[in-house]
Amino acid sequence: MAGAGGEGAVGAEEGAVEIGRDDPGKDHVSDYDGRRGQRRRRAVGSRPWTGSTGSPPSGAGGRTATARHKPLLLLYALGHHQRHGARPIEYAEAEQHLSRLLREFGPPRRTTPAYPFHHLATDGFWTVTTAEGEGTSDASPTALRRTNARGALSPDLLRALDTEPGLLDRIARHLLDANFAPSLHDDIRLLAGLALDADAEPGSDLRPAGARRDPGFRDEVLTAYEHRCAFCGFEGWIDGLTVGLEAAHVRWWALGGPDDPGNGLCLCSIHHRLFDRGVLGLTDDRAVTVSTRFVGRSAGAEQVVHALAGRRSHDPQPGYAPVEADHIAWHRREVFRGRPREQATAGT
Ligand SMILES: [Zn+2]
Repeated sequence: MAGAGGEGAVGAEEGAVEIGRDDPGKDHVSDYDGRRGQRRRRAVGSRPWTGSTGSPPSGAGGRTATARHKPLLLLYALGHHQRHGARPIEYAEAEQHLSRLLREFGPPRRTTPAYPFHHLATDGFWTVTTAEGEGTSDASPTALRRTNARGALSPDLLRALDTEPGLLDRIARHLLDANFAPSLHDDIRLLAGLALDADAEPGSDLRPAGARRDPGFRDEVLTAYEHRCAFCGFEGWIDGLTVGLEAAHVRWWALGGPDDPGNGLCLCSIHHRLFDRGVLGLTDDRAVTVSTRFVGRSAGAEQVVHALAGRRSHDPQPGYAPVEADHIAWHRREVFRGRPREQATAGT
């Protein structure tokens, strides 16, 4: 379980990784290998993919979003399995697609798809073979292409998927729940080519009771911000009900963020999405930042995004705590992409 790699940097070493967090007291569902007496317990457990990092950033509670490349590869592999069964995934063929998935939903620091393709094998869910035989010694894209590397879900996992109805769905939902903000799930599924049973409640049978989301969180956050977007001030109602406003977790719930107004922001749908995608962020004194990597030239983009740069976000009404600095720092480190733009004049 040892391993550095807390930052998930290319080339960082990682040890064994569970699907989910190997946390005593949390459930380990779909313990398919346990039931079959395999040598290693793999936890398809409650909260996130840890990447088994032994050294969490301070104040991060041990959970980072930087290991997102592995769940993304596994989600892609599950989607591939739905479409092609046990057929292996050719690296050269999948590279572009995986690259897109990582660029959009992976950690802010860019990672090549070769990295998870190579490293996921250490977790026992995934095997890689090349023209030179089993396994890879090199995580470089060139080496994987040159040796015709192909990856496949491990034989154990393939067997389990064949024999346990609904297992693929449960694993995929769990990987989404445990590693990504909910606003991103649909897009990730689409891009990974995953079709999930719409009737099942996400993660319904996977999450221990203690880890359920607090249904009061949304109301509390919306009340705290008086039903207005903390970034743009949008408010809207239809038939007496708020519309287009959401309670955003600053530190993702999937990655340890509490259902607490001190970790919440009332945002309109577009700003929520941009915040979860790392286009928008916050400074310590809660001014809005816009990523230098965001491109948008229309008047709409100017008005909706660029104009926010440097503008102070609205605070909650008296009696409610503003977002805690720790959670803001987490978001800046794990979600926000690149550097903040200087000021609102940029982008025209
Ligand atoms: Zn807004």
